[in-house]
Amino acid sequence: MRDQLIEHLKFAAELGVTGISKDPAWRTRLQEPPAGHETGPAVEPAAGEPVTFFTRETLPDIKADIGDDCRRCKLHKLGRKQIVFGVGSPDADLMFVGEAPGADEDEQGIPFVGRAGQLLTKIIEAIGLTRDDVYIANVIKCRPPQNRNPEQDEVDTCEPFLFRQIDTIKPKVIVALGTFAARALMRTLDPISRLRGRVYDYRGAKLIPTFHPAYLLRNPSSKREVWEDMKVVRKLMQS
Ligand code: URA
Repeated sequence: MRDQLIEHLKFAAELGVTGISKDPAWRTRLQEPPAGHETGPAVEPAAGEPVTFFTRETLPDIKADIGDDCRRCKLHKLGRKQIVFGVGSPDADLMFVGEAPGADEDEQGIPFVGRAGQLLTKIIEAIGLTRDDVYIANVIKCRPPQNRNPEQDEVDTCEPFLFRQIDTIKPKVIVALGTFAARALMRTLDPISRLRGRVYDYRGAKLIPTFHPAYLLRNPSSKREVWEDMKVVRKLMQS
């Protein structure tokens, strides 16, 4: 049995399997692994405890899969300059999810760098972190024309990449910024005003919906509620 196991592991290593885990979380994937990243065969170790092989895809794998000139939806021909993949720590415990890149993000290829982004940076700093400590991404990776709301077919096409980012980073806490991100993640039509104020279980993380920083620029009085939400974020991250 031991020799068989060693042979099996050698074979897996030759196939490019980079690790094994006893963590039950690896046996309960929330989505099909992408092509080329299948979960490998389960084997019985000597102790009789099931172990699952895995090749864990990385953020660069996902970025490469999207490609530099993604044409999967119509946004590629509606004026987007570049794909805005995401930024921050691949090991982040905290992830922020916005809607879609705006003009500044489209120009620089980095999410949340415009006015709303500067406010988001302040929010992150208010809980004692920096942008480098967290991960920031959007539901949609390309700028919709005139910053219109993303359309359903664009969301359907693009959101699997966000889900893969989440499953790769495995953050403890996800903050959905604004109605659009919360709706896309939570599969609901409820507005953010109804959704916020509660903590939801989501893909192995705690999900906190809160107001979008662009909304806060127009409604500064709502910063108080966002601060309440951020206090919950801070507590969850310490738990
Ligand atoms: N608004 C978003 O939702 N995302 C960005 O990246 C910038 C503004």
